[in-house]
Amino acid sequence: MLSRDLPVEEARQQMADNLDKVRKKIEMALQKSADPAREVTLVAVSKRQPLDRIRALAAAGQVHFGENYVQEGLEKIKDLENLEIKWHFTGSLQSNKARFIPGHFSLVHSLDSVKLARALQKKAAELGIVQPVLIQVNLAGEVQKAGVDPDHVPELIQETGRMDHLDVQGLMLMPPLADDPEESRPYFTGLRKMRDTLEQETGRRLPHLSMGMSQDFVQAVEEGATLVRVGSLLLGPRPGCTFNAYAG
Ligand SMILES: *Cc1c(COP(=O)(O)O)cnc(C)c1O
Repeated sequence: MLSRDLPVEEARQQMADNLDKVRKKIEMALQKSADPAREVTLVAVSKRQPLDRIRALAAAGQVHFGENYVQEGLEKIKDLENLEIKWHFTGSLQSNKARFIPGHFSLVHSLDSVKLARALQKKAAELGIVQPVLIQVNLAGEVQKAGVDPDHVPELIQETGRMDHLDVQGLMLMPPLADDPEESRPYFTGLRKMRDTLEQETGRRLPHLSMGMSQDFVQAVEEGATLVRVGSLLLGPRPGCTFNAYAG
């Protein structure tokens, strides 16, 4: 784990070690999975993390980073524009902020309504680009949890399928909080099965499954994840205050 007071060289060494460990675990989990030949993209979730940690992890070779909050994400993208980073939007997104996303984030993990899809489509159309997105599924049916109800996923895929500036590439999942990572496994399996069914029913390819975080990414990769979203295990514990205090 990393303290923000560490000297730069030491911080870099720790980040490189963290990255190495996570990559090795992904590789081992892949070998245990049903499809070991696939590619798994490691997304470092850097919400509320200070810029120096992100720089250190990027220097160690990490390319994909995920942000959860629109304003914080946009500021970081600007501050780090000289780095070769591919940014993902992993947090829940309100449609009134959707216009800030296309053109800045290579993948949105959290599409969960037709209204949000329309707002993203509108902005992407203005920019003349196609915005890749994943549909976030509330598989456990948790109250007040982000993500679309499983019953409404086919309809959302159908609606977004008509939006020519959106590209739905798969599904994303946040399982219920659990102490034991094995408790997440049935949700990961469930999301994969749901994807397989949706591909059959809609005739669309949904190649990506974004699932697994620091605690349970091994189980997620074993069950078919193509994107894992790992935060604290790579970047250290998130500072308990707002990112602004650390951004300087
Ligand atoms: C914070 C967050 C993560 C990373 O969580 P860690 O437990 O730090 O790995 C992954 N995905 C989403 C959507 C998050 O909000």
